[in-house]
Amino acid sequence: MSQQKWEGLIQKLVRGNILRSPNVIRALRQVSREPFLPKNVKASAASDCPLPIGSGQTASAPHMVSIMDEALELEVGHKVLEVGAGSGWHAATIAEIVAPSDAPKEEWGHVYTIERIAELAAFAKQNITQTGYEDRVTVIHQDGTLGYPEEAPYDRILVAAAGPEVPKPLVEQLKNGGILLVPVGGAQFYQTLVRVRKKNGETVEENLGGVAFVPLIGKHGFEP
Ligand code: SAM
Repeated sequence: MSQQKWEGLIQKLVRGNILRSPNVIRALRQVSREPFLPKNVKASAASDCPLPIGSGQTASAPHMVSIMDEALELEVGHKVLEVGAGSGWHAATIAEIVAPSDAPKEEWGHVYTIERIAELAAFAKQNITQTGYEDRVTVIHQDGTLGYPEEAPYDRILVAAAGPEVPKPLVEQLKNGGILLVPVGGAQFYQTLVRVRKKNGETVEENLGGVAFVPLIGKHGFEP
């Protein structure tokens, strides 16, 4: 895939008002999906659709990653938890916002990304290392519905798979003033993207529209 094709996709997402904020546009432009994909689908990196990454899972579509990165209201220095590392691409786009390559390292935030499938956790880790994000992104292999209490609380939490409800441990591990983004609904695709804001210990939920994600499988998700 050429850089020109990736730039064409970025411009299409900007024209469609899906990419709006300068920091998100910059990150998506900087972090192409291609290096995070298996060889057989690399040529399709700039197609705006999910792509297979093995183990029956997908790297999310660029418009969905853009929508989520915009909805998270990310800032330099944020500590972020992602559930569903997959290829590691989405985590790298977030790292480029909370810990931009051109910012002093003392200002950098960090992304913790959890994956339940061992092969994909290893794939994400390899991609993160090969693209130079290993000091800004930590990949963890476990059930992400339990969150990652070791590094809690988080400024932002996102779930890249759909659960039957908002997982309670994730709400508990969110900072006051924080945002949690999670697709909620059935396991057979078509769910609602829910944004949870925590204020003074209370949570307020907002419906951001319909989405289609693979199921969130775990203690506070669907059964395997
Ligand atoms: N963010 C990914 C990327 O950039 O490639 C795409 C994520 S893919 C749509 C959803 C991922 O969530 C899958 O890799 C799946 O194995 C993972 N997953 C599902 N349930 C999980 C859980 N309880 N904990 C961690 N990962 C989970």
